[in-house]
Amino acid sequence: MPHLPRRATIAIAAVLALVSGWFIFAAWNDYSRKAAQDNATYTEFVDMAARGDVASVVFGNNVARATAADGKQYRIVVPVTDDLLSELRGRRIAISFDDGPDGLMPQTMTVLDKLAPVIIVGLMIGALALSGGNFFGMGRATRLHPDDSRVRFDDVAGVDEAKEELRETVEFLKDPHRFAMAGARVPKGLLLVGPPGTGKTMLAKAAAGEAGVPFFAASGSDFVEMFVGLGAARVRNLFKQARAKAPCILFIDEIDALAGKRGEANSHSEKEQTLNQLLVEMDGVVDGGDVVIIAATNRVEMLDAAVLRPGRFDRHIHVSPPDVTGREAILGVHTGRCKLATDVCLKTVARGAPGFSGAELANLVNEAALSAARQGRVIIHMNDFEAAKDRVLMGTERRTLALSDHERRLTAVHEAGHALVSVKIPEADPIHKATVIPRGRALGMVVRLPDGDRVSLSRAKLLADIAVAMAGRAAEELVFGPDAVTTGAEADFRAATDIARRMVKAWGMSESVGFVAHTAEPGSATSERMAWLIDEEVRRITDEGMERARRLLTGNRAALDAISEALLEHETLSGAEITAMAEPKLETEAA
Ligand code: ADP
Ligand code: ZN
Repeated sequence: MPHLPRRATIAIAAVLALVSGWFIFAAWNDYSRKAAQDNATYTEFVDMAARGDVASVVFGNNVARATAADGKQYRIVVPVTDDLLSELRGRRIAISFDDGPDGLMPQTMTVLDKLAPVIIVGLMIGALALSGGNFFGMGRATRLHPDDSRVRFDDVAGVDEAKEELRETVEFLKDPHRFAMAGARVPKGLLLVGPPGTGKTMLAKAAAGEAGVPFFAASGSDFVEMFVGLGAARVRNLFKQARAKAPCILFIDEIDALAGKRGEANSHSEKEQTLNQLLVEMDGVVDGGDVVIIAATNRVEMLDAAVLRPGRFDRHIHVSPPDVTGREAILGVHTGRCKLATDVCLKTVARGAPGFSGAELANLVNEAALSAARQGRVIIHMNDFEAAKDRVLMGTERRTLALSDHERRLTAVHEAGHALVSVKIPEADPIHKATVIPRGRALGMVVRLPDGDRVSLSRAKLLADIAVAMAGRAAEELVFGPDAVTTGAEADFRAATDIARRMVKAWGMSESVGFVAHTAEPGSATSERMAWLIDEEVRRITDEGMERARRLLTGNRAALDAISEALLEHETLSGAEITAMAEPKLETEAA
């Protein structure tokens, strides 16, 4: 079922309600009219006429309505015969005929009947207007209403890098002509990438607020339509409206719903037309038109490559879940208007809420305020935050939100292990950052900066990568003992084994296997002995990687502890910070 915009749905409901209301009224009217007229038999009618009690008669098909002298009406089933007519004429009773369906709806009803189509059409026009010209989503885009909630950058906390990236956009929107005269090309398509509730919408809104330009919001799912061409028409209309209000920001949430990868086999032509229209409009905006389009998604890998090309959404801004400092700042923003008791320490609250997004923190503050209110207080105490956390956790299924202290320490040690070993082996990729902020299924991660241009990998580099991969488990083992190790290293082992296997089978990096390619060509048989040998060699290489990691960690135990403590404290460390902590650099592996 395609998604109808909410306003259209409301409009449809309104029209249905009005139309059914009309029919009920009509039926009631009909009924009450009929109730107002008595039925009379043919005999009674003839008798009345004979007494001179009948003033007039209207004949329909087999029915007649007689109006008595006192104004009362009677309904009679009666065959129209010449005898009857001449009888009535003889008594000077006014006779007329009606060719209606049953001929004889009461008079007013007939008028209402004729008015009905007019009224219904009127109602539909009204509903159309109500729905912002969007009835059934027919060919019209969501009517854009500038959002005038005055959100500013100060209201969005814990996302300083993203704010920094948006400043240039703000400058541009404040004075597009200055940029144009300088010949500067400002990116008009920005993509905010991050999990839900991290403040992407807020950021876009705040950018508009800072620049003092209108902010228009739409969602990718607004454009998912059933009929070919409708989605495209809505996109066209959306941009048309935005251009009319330029300079402005047009925000498209859930862009993946609109610009997902185009499939080969199941290409849905409506979807494709909509996407194509988006591309056309983006290109038009880039070549002029002071509209900045900010889109948001959590899954950039789902987007069609065409929308990411230069000139379209080529500027990506990552909006990550906040670290402990960021969480404290967000709590600060949201408690701004609350009265806090002196025992409230927002830092402690932030520390106890690892993995909470901005939205979840806002919710936490709200629950704390409710908890206080339930007890008739206006001042929020620390125990309100405790109660609030339990409520928020109950409402979310995410296990990562309820990490135990032990799990967090374990994660910190594991990631510190990866980080330390990658600093200690010169051939390893330089480290960009390490984090213990849970994301998706990963409780933490180390981000390294691979040298993207490298086409060939040295044996030394590959062995370094294997040792770095092993270092997570090695650190757990070293700090907590062999029985405490966890399943957290699964992906590490897979990565290491994969490298080792390719070294042996494809890259001729194992003496005993030799320089033979064992890449599985269909039909090429690897002898049983060779298969065994390959497994042995893979095993030897990974084992040596593990030994190397253990040696390095044992020899630098103080640095390992320092880094894991710092990770627990700050949750994210930059490559430079980690490198500094890994000093003094004993450098040689033998250390
Ligand atoms: P997204 O667009 O990333 O899903 P929103 O911007 O809609 O998230 O955030 C939803 C709500 O959560 C906001 O209205 C705000 O109350 C709160 N929020 C989220 N992130 C932040 C933040 N970084 N700073 C302050 N409040 C935030
Ligand atoms: Zn790991």
